[in-house]
Amino acid sequence: MRVNLWLRYAVLAVLAALTVVAFFKTPPGASRPFLVHEPGGIMGTDTRLVAVLPPGMDKAEANAALNDATAALRWIEILMSTALNHSELARFNAAGIGPFAFGRETLQVLGAAQRLYEGSGGAFDVTCGPLIMLWQKAGELGRLPAPEEIRSARAASDWRGLIFDDRGIFKKEEGLKIDLGGIAKGYAIDRAMERLAGAGCEGGLVDVGGDIRCFGTPMETNLWQIGVKHPFEADAPFARLGIASGAVCTSGNYSRFVEIEGKWYSHIIDPRTGLPAGAAASVTVAAPTAMAADGWATALSVLGPKGFEKLPEGGGIEALIVTGTPEAHEVHMTEGFRELLVEGPEL
Ligand code: AMP
Ligand code: MG
Repeated sequence: MRVNLWLRYAVLAVLAALTVVAFFKTPPGASRPFLVHEPGGIMGTDTRLVAVLPPGMDKAEANAALNDATAALRWIEILMSTALNHSELARFNAAGIGPFAFGRETLQVLGAAQRLYEGSGGAFDVTCGPLIMLWQKAGELGRLPAPEEIRSARAASDWRGLIFDDRGIFKKEEGLKIDLGGIAKGYAIDRAMERLAGAGCEGGLVDVGGDIRCFGTPMETNLWQIGVKHPFEADAPFARLGIASGAVCTSGNYSRFVEIEGKWYSHIIDPRTGLPAGAAASVTVAAPTAMAADGWATALSVLGPKGFEKLPEGGGIEALIVTGTPEAHEVHMTEGFRELLVEGPEL
């Protein structure tokens, strides 16, 4: 596999400018009318929603659908963010051993988190809140945690510390904390997409910080062109996918690492060791839903290419993993992912 792709990136950069950024404003080849909203202040990142109008839908209806989809994103953030003190999740984390009665949405995400925990052999574990907080603090202080601190945070991070009961969810230990940062954004994107489809849009796209779900395009080709984020350069393109409907999410891109004592550490933790994951520089997953794509992108960041064998058979989940460093990296992908590529990386 060739690794020196820099010249090719320059070509891809031009292509991606046509697809990811300018695509919605001056869409070459668009054959159906569409509207774009770019609401700010959602999940600390950029958001873009597109509604493709069917015959008979007027602009006001499409705007209402886009506002409704935006409200769905904000609602999930209000429920599940750990950055908001009064989110449902923050209240659970601050509470005693329970029982705690979560609402329908958070329970759905916890159900998916359990399936991912089992499917990934424990690599994806939303109860690793104490470890995530420990490494976040280490990043802020610029100082590695002591082995003893890692040991005790690791002991407090365990899915089996959650007990599901008719009365709600109990914690085995008071210190148990859930972090849905690896999956909730995908869930929110799915809910927003449902609002667009439910309002009668002929197609739509929801993009939150580069994690995307789409259906029914406005394009002659009937494919949305989705840029894959570059593993080592913010805002640079790496490859392009052609998707009729489904989701594409990326984890572990370079901008989300922290530097401690001169070394880069991932924001994704390997719950089996209590240390930041080092198995992948970047993971991009295509899946039928954004929740599956988001969750598996985080899980494969822990597992690396070996994790391909854990992907559920027949689940339509395909992945691309870049391992190594900017100087010497390797690209690994599932056969199905290769079939979605319309441009690069060089194979
Ligand atoms: P993503 O960018 O979707 O890969 O999500 C990364 C976020 O997931 C981190 O910032 C944490 O909030 C959370 N996280 C980190 N490690 C894990 C893990 N092993 N399992 C589940 N969630 C994790
Ligand atoms: Mg994720």
